[in-house]
Amino acid sequence: MARKFFVGGNWKCNGTTEEVKKIVTTLNEAEVPSEDVVEVVVSPPFVFLTFVKSLLRSDFHVAAQNCWVRKGGAFTGEISAEMLVNLSIPWVIIGHSERRALLNESNEFVGDKVAYALSQGLKVIACIGETLEERESGSTMAVVAAQTKAIAGKVTNWDNVVLAYEPVWVIGTGKVATPAQAQEVHCELRKWLHENVGGDIAASTRIIYGGSVNGANCKELAAQPDVDGFLVGGASLKPEFVDIIKAAT
Ligand code: PEP
Repeated sequence: MARKFFVGGNWKCNGTTEEVKKIVTTLNEAEVPSEDVVEVVVSPPFVFLTFVKSLLRSDFHVAAQNCWVRKGGAFTGEISAEMLVNLSIPWVIIGHSERRALLNESNEFVGDKVAYALSQGLKVIACIGETLEERESGSTMAVVAAQTKAIAGKVTNWDNVVLAYEPVWVIGTGKVATPAQAQEVHCELRKWLHENVGGDIAASTRIIYGGSVNGANCKELAAQPDVDGFLVGGASLKPEFVDIIKAAT
């Protein structure tokens, strides 16, 4: 089954109104393949979500970078899935390694968040990935399988899930996994989905790669058979994001 290439831009905690306008202008002026060929989703900080949505071309979409695990209420500082739906924000990133590491989000908590976001009608970019220590000790696959299991156990509709494999040791470090290293894990993850969720879902679910992807390395990574797109941090704030959108064409 053909999997549409997916390119997400995670702006993290960056930007001023002026900077955000500049990035959106670059994206709006870019000549890129049609949305039948590449799905593009950018993820500004919460405070800029509706601003970006109102300025952004209609063939690109927006994602929140997180949402609360349950229905909103007395959870100071949190943003609920219902609020995102109310603002017509279609996507949310869940389980980013920065939140797992800095805010102690466990596999179970991430799984619960994915379940709640999906139940409210959001589409989810669910992030997984091993640390350098875990890779060096040979436990990469065990770690990402456990992270995926905690998510998969709570997913009812895989059409609305993109799985983002983001090795922690390459995020924002300038180090990139080689195309072969990325392909190896993506292929194992697809096998895991096949064995534990089902053949059709393994064939149709997009598994995207994240970690220091840039204009120079994106084409070789995109050529790997199980790499169905990217989640891009630093380079999504720069004009080279347009080259990354075109990586598979
Ligand atoms: C990310 O934060 O999801 C990411 C992949 O960051 P970077 O591209 O900067 O490594």
